[in-house]
Amino acid sequence: MMPLNELYQEIILDHYRQPRGRGELEPPKITQEGFNPSCGDEIILDLRVRDGRIEAVRFHGRGCSISQASASMLTEAVQGKTLAEAHALIQQVLGLVKGETDGDIDSLGDLAALAGVRQFPVRVKCATLAWHTLEEALKQVS
Ligand code: ZN
Repeated sequence: MMPLNELYQEIILDHYRQPRGRGELEPPKITQEGFNPSCGDEIILDLRVRDGRIEAVRFHGRGCSISQASASMLTEAVQGKTLAEAHALIQQVLGLVKGETDGDIDSLGDLAALAGVRQFPVRVKCATLAWHTLEEALKQVS
């Protein structure tokens, strides 16, 4: 196996070692659990949505560095976003990780590092877990 692009790997390890947005929210909140059985990754997302905007987001859980780094990046990226913006970002990131699109990779900041995962099909589910979990969480928003 080829190593991840070094820069991408550094960004992922940085988020893994110093996760942003790790923790839990006080109620009221939406909680959604996600599980990736192929690797044993677990993500629990807490969201607070107010006036159509993600006001606060936290995650906890355990798993490999890619799954936890991806969740850390997610909390940074969707904080303050409208629901429409969050949905668009989910699609963009899923496309990026699966190698379906590069989109506007320069605008993605640290999230661009997730593109490095596409070389490793078995790890794609690790990288997408947090984003699928967010997708499910947003379905709970009435
Ligand atoms: Zn994993």
